[in-house]
Amino acid sequence: MWCSRLLSYPLSQGPCSSYRTRTALAQLNHVLEAELESIRGAGTWKSERVITSKQGPHIHVEGSRGEILNFCANNYLGLSSHPEVMRSGLEALEKFGAGLSSVRFICGTQHIHKNLEEKISRFHQREDAILYASCFDANAGIFEALLTPEDAVLSDELNHASIIDGIRLCKANKYRYKHMDMQDLEAKLQDAQKHRLRLVATDGAFSMDGDIAPLKEICSLAQKYQALVFIDECHATGFLGPNGRGTDELLGVMDQVDIVNSTLGKALGGAAGGYTTGPKALIDLLRQRSRPYLFSNSLPPAVVGCASKALDLLMESNAIAQSMVAKTRRFRSKMAAAGFSISGNDHPICPVMLGEARLASVMADDMLERGIYVIGFSYPVVPKGKARIRVQISAVHSEDDIDRCVEAFTEVGRKHGALP
Ligand code: PLP
Repeated sequence: MWCSRLLSYPLSQGPCSSYRTRTALAQLNHVLEAELESIRGAGTWKSERVITSKQGPHIHVEGSRGEILNFCANNYLGLSSHPEVMRSGLEALEKFGAGLSSVRFICGTQHIHKNLEEKISRFHQREDAILYASCFDANAGIFEALLTPEDAVLSDELNHASIIDGIRLCKANKYRYKHMDMQDLEAKLQDAQKHRLRLVATDGAFSMDGDIAPLKEICSLAQKYQALVFIDECHATGFLGPNGRGTDELLGVMDQVDIVNSTLGKALGGAAGGYTTGPKALIDLLRQRSRPYLFSNSLPPAVVGCASKALDLLMESNAIAQSMVAKTRRFRSKMAAAGFSISGNDHPICPVMLGEARLASVMADDMLERGIYVIGFSYPVVPKGKARIRVQISAVHSEDDIDRCVEAFTEVGRKHGALP
């Protein structure tokens, strides 16, 4: 392990570069091992189960026998392996190649990118839209491009990590209001009146609790204090609201929400990609200033093809979006009748509240043994003492799938004392 040149190397010149590198690496390993051990020790180590089939309600998982019922994907509408969505991706791949080897403004824009942006803005009834490699990128890019030290951003304390990171990158004055607490938001808006622009930023639907932001109240406060409203619709686009347009449609405030960020990686085909849709001037500015847009590769054609078809299907009919409402209700009401407490309201994210981290983890393992794939969430992802198993319902789950899931929960819950 020692540098072979070390013996003949004059110490006055300092250690040779290879020796220095090895010592630095040994030191790094030491630091990393301690960090990894602390994650293991805290019981928050995340291991990855390996799926050996397409994403869907029925999957195969390495190490488990037979078909597994999947209740933890964001595949809300079952479009991740929808035949028409896949065919559209394949056609785009064949016609437009694997990728662009370029960012959008150099030589990375094909007409399919422009068409998808037009489709997204039409779907959300906004003026324009801009694509990103992910919604994480859309959130990373927007705040810094839009807000200056003269402005203020007011953010729900439980907003998604990517909104928090995006806000960290911007130089605006930052206010964090208590989760969905309109009194606190109003107090912060009053304080923020001294700034030029005010932007209220919230998840439309919160992914850990399945609760829905009170957008009506947020929009009326925004009107009162002349603030802009931004929503992240990753857990709403495609299925909330009568036509699946999202939380703003569900709550009747489509004309009052100014900016929508969302993902193509969940309900809209599940491949990848994200976007911002809103006023044309804002989208024009993002194309000039947004760093994840300017400095990252264009969306690959296959991904564009899949998302584009997913939007076509949703714009043709609201049947898919609506089909999951009844299924969500079935799961929530049967679980409540069995004695479980499910957080959130009418959202396909159905967190089965268990309290103890160990309980959530052993119950999730036992569910897998019964052929049901669910995941336990505990601190630091959710507050201490609020561990849960997050179940996500998809439009392609059958009633029988849902009933099997409830039965397995009931058995496992009784076994571990979560139910009497
Ligand atoms: N915002 C929310 C609320 C999310 O849940 C996620 C994904 O988990 C993202 C943003 C990031 O989306 P993407 O996977 O497109 O980067």
